[in-house]
Amino acid sequence: MVRMNVDEASSLVDSLKRQGIVRSRRVEEAMLRVPRELFVWPGTEHRAYEDIPLPLDDTGQTISAPHMVAIMLEALDVKPGNQVLEIGTGSGYNAALLAELVGRDGKVVSVERLPELVEFARSNLKRAGYLDRVEVVLGDGSLGYPPRYEGPLYDRVTITASAPRLPRYPVAQLRDGGILLVPLGPPGYQVLTRVRRRGNSYSSEELLGCVFVPLVGEDGYGPGGLDIIRGPSKR
Ligand code: SAM
Repeated sequence: MVRMNVDEASSLVDSLKRQGIVRSRRVEEAMLRVPRELFVWPGTEHRAYEDIPLPLDDTGQTISAPHMVAIMLEALDVKPGNQVLEIGTGSGYNAALLAELVGRDGKVVSVERLPELVEFARSNLKRAGYLDRVEVVLGDGSLGYPPRYEGPLYDRVTITASAPRLPRYPVAQLRDGGILLVPLGPPGYQVLTRVRRRGNSYSSEELLGCVFVPLVGEDGYGPGGLDIIRGPSKR
């Protein structure tokens, strides 16, 4: 696979290392291997190695900024061979990085609610050579995958959109020893939250403030993204 700009990629990763954001060799190598220019929307390739989120055409969605992607990957601590669920495929960039981290013995399932982004992500992942390890699924990831299934399936779950509360099914799909990451809070400001499962007990910690587009779905926000300021969960 040929990267369009190796220099820009290494200077971005060097900067993330200097800032203490990229801390592990594994995340560093994954970020150096996955060409971000293959995942940004056509016409924005020249900005692929700027540390900013970029719009995915007129979908209202974004490919997250590299520093946020790196923070989440470090916090998720993905191991080779892991089964990973990503909710919010977007461009497929983070799914490709997860594929690098799980390696050939692992698997990534990534759920996206917008059909045009499912198609976009699949074609990006195919071009970049990751479709053997990544399954992109169209659906409402707020219900987990398979939807509403309550058994342990995944070592890691990462939700790359902001949720009003911990979504029940993705949490129930964590295996013993598993880790789930989710930005929790109202549109405009959330706290990246990490949940760990040990046996039948769950602990959670707040990591840092962040801003993500809303998780829109049955166990997320309504289409306006405003449930949390209208009142408690409707569940
Ligand atoms: N991880 C992505 C990447 O690497 O490009 C960026 C994700 S973007 C910040 C959030 C994505 O979550 C959007 O593509 C949005 O359509 C998707 N999304 C929002 N609610 C969803 C839901 N209930 N199920 C699946 N995807 C959802």
